[in-house]
Amino acid sequence: MNLSMILTVFQTYRRLRKFKTVAEHLNADGHRTANGVELSGQSVARILRDKTHLDDGLIPQELWDEVQAILAARERGGNAKRRVAHLCSGLLRCGCGQAMYVPTNSKKYVCQKCRNKIAKDDLEAIVYENLRLSGNKQIVEMIQSWRSLSFAQKREIVESSVQNIIAEDKKVTLSLFAFG
Ligand SMILES: [Zn+2]
Repeated sequence: MNLSMILTVFQTYRRLRKFKTVAEHLNADGHRTANGVELSGQSVARILRDKTHLDDGLIPQELWDEVQAILAARERGGNAKRRVAHLCSGLLRCGCGQAMYVPTNSKKYVCQKCRNKIAKDDLEAIVYENLRLSGNKQIVEMIQSWRSLSFAQKREIVESSVQNIIAEDKKVTLSLFAFG
């Protein structure tokens, strides 16, 4: 990673205030990490919290302070996103209308009302297939490296593209958001 990029990451974050947006912005400008891969939201977060960048004089004290204040506010819950435990949490309903949850230590989403169940792995495979066959170029590109994506990245894709999922006894129906 070149040194001027560190400064750019800080400046861009001060302006845009979202890890992922900063990553997308810099990737679009052709920036890459030291390993030559695209920046992720996580790599941006790591750069912003690394105090050696300040100690080495790569960024001015004032910019460091400002960015740390934004990060601290975010951690207090300002813009922080609610964490979810499973890929389809909050999106999946049973055919009977009940939301389906994954009980602790279970590998299945379960409807508490009628005991309809679906294995997490099966559901994830179905979601992936639906996205792959969605015909939406943007989605198809995002899921190309599905297996190597982090949970947070997968969740972000699912959240931004899947409106809801209904699991009936033998059938799963996905509704995707309309993309313009
Ligand atoms: Zn049910």
